[in-house]
Amino acid sequence: MDLKTQNKIKEIVVKGGLQYYEAEVSAIITKILAKGCKVRPVEFKGPSMLSTTPDGCIIQVGVKDRENPFDIIWDFLHEYGHFLSGPPKSEDLRLKREELAWKFAKTELNQYPKLLLRKEEFETYREKCLNDYHRFPHLRICDISPY
Ligand SMILES: [Zn+2]
Repeated sequence: MDLKTQNKIKEIVVKGGLQYYEAEVSAIITKILAKGCKVRPVEFKGPSMLSTTPDGCIIQVGVKDRENPFDIIWDFLHEYGHFLSGPPKSEDLRLKREELAWKFAKTELNQYPKLLLRKEEFETYREKCLNDYHRFPHLRICDISPY
C-alpha cells in the first residue's frame, strides 16, 4: 500500500474515531481504490456523494463529528454500492437506485464479521437514509449522488 493510501486511511480512522476498526476501514478503502475510485474524506458536514469523472469516480464522505462514527463506514459502503450499481437508466426511480445501492452495501457488509456485529446500526441508518431521500436535497443528510 502506498503512503498516500495509508495516510488517507489514517485520516478517516483518526478523524472518525474508528481506531478499533482500522483493519475494516483499510480493507474497504483499498477495495474502492482498486476499482478506480478516488476517496475523499472531508471535514465539513454535508451529504456524502459519488461523482463520476472521465477516468473513474470520487467518493466523498464527511468524517468529522458524525452522529455515529459507523455512519462513515455505512456511507462508504453505500456510495460504493452506487458505483457497483452502474450508470442509471433514465427510467430508474431515485428510490429504486438508492435501495439497490444499499443492497450492494449490505453484501459488502457481510464480508466483515466485526462490522456485522453492528448490523442493526447499519439497518437503522439505511432506513433513515431511505426516508431522507424524500426530503429536499438541501436538507438531506445521507447522500446526493445523482447516481
Ligand atoms: Zn445513495
